[in-house]
Amino acid sequence: MSATTMLESEQAELHASYRHLHEHPELSMQEHQTAAFIEGKLEELGIEHFRCGGTGVVAILRNGAGPVVAFRADTDGLPIQEDTPADYRSVATGTLPDGTAVPVMHGCGHDTHVAAALTAARIMQREHAQWRGTIVWIFQPGEETAEGAAAMVADGLWDRAPVPEIVFGQHVVSEIPAGTVGIASGSAMAMADSLRVTVRGRQSHGSQPQDAIDPIVLGAHMVVRLQTIVSRELAPQQPAVLTCGTFHAGLKENIIPDRAEFTLNIRTLTDETRAQVLAAITRILDAEAAASGAPAPEIEEMYRFPLLFNDPTATEGVRTALRGELGESQVAELPAAMGSEDFGWLAAGAGVPNVYWVFGAYPAGTENPPVNHSPFFLPVMEPTLGTGVRAAVSVLRSALGK
Ligand SMILES: [Zn+2]
Ligand SMILES: [Zn+2]
Repeated sequence: MSATTMLESEQAELHASYRHLHEHPELSMQEHQTAAFIEGKLEELGIEHFRCGGTGVVAILRNGAGPVVAFRADTDGLPIQEDTPADYRSVATGTLPDGTAVPVMHGCGHDTHVAAALTAARIMQREHAQWRGTIVWIFQPGEETAEGAAAMVADGLWDRAPVPEIVFGQHVVSEIPAGTVGIASGSAMAMADSLRVTVRGRQSHGSQPQDAIDPIVLGAHMVVRLQTIVSRELAPQQPAVLTCGTFHAGLKENIIPDRAEFTLNIRTLTDETRAQVLAAITRILDAEAAASGAPAPEIEEMYRFPLLFNDPTATEGVRTALRGELGESQVAELPAAMGSEDFGWLAAGAGVPNVYWVFGAYPAGTENPPVNHSPFFLPVMEPTLGTGVRAAVSVLRSALGK
């Protein structure tokens, strides 16, 4: 029998919570019903809690003198039209900050994080004789927009909750089989920077290019030249990604417009590489503008994700706990991913280390499993949810064992 005994009543509660959350996703920083649902469950358990960072909820489970640790579950959904066969699929809609009405889906599986954390809290409370200390549960909004963790820290998270010695977190993923977990030691997920570039030209009739500074030709040169940063300026051993995800310019084929706008997404694993890439971007954009006789472009930071760095010593302890709970072969060693997370801001805000792992969503051997952010993303309920609960409980218990 596993160390984490899940009662039948707990599994029923876990599945009911998950179905409810999946059916009622909300957009980033608008998780009002989700926060109320979490608060309702905490009330039932009699666990003290408070709101933080708008739609964030912090719960504190105190169990005598001992270590303080934090566990984070993110709560937001995505603007995606769900296209799964589940009878609990979402038909929810929401409104983006710019006013656009959109369908909403738990397309990243944050509903599994919330449901698993609530059940883990229930188990830790029931089994309070097995551990000592304090658990700070962080139900964090706005992960998908990189706003939530920073908002909670800015709202005094660590002034209002006991400061932990470590922050734990987990994420459901399609890449490893359900029932297994994966963990990376050291750099686990990349830093990300999103930039908006506005290129200024001079507008004229499409037949009179001599009167124009064409921002489309200029912008196209910029985008192509930017590709040489990773391929020609960085060492092959220095991982980085530079993607131009949008490019907008012009209204009509016979008008040379006065501006073009594009956005860039940059992923790096070290501060040195990040600084090198950002400096090269500015150098290239300014030089290309000068080459066209155009003014320097405007470069604006849209948002930024921190590096997710798993403390190597603490990661060793987490790996041991996970292997003890799930079995040696169920715990995979993962390389650093170029995806990003705002999880790192929570521990950084407290000046403490963190450890983050992933758990699988689909049965082993599933062909082309739909990935996170796909309209078809639908984890199998078990062993996915049960694994999330067991991972959380085993790690917390190993950190807080008597
Ligand atoms: Zn996501
Ligand atoms: Zn996610």
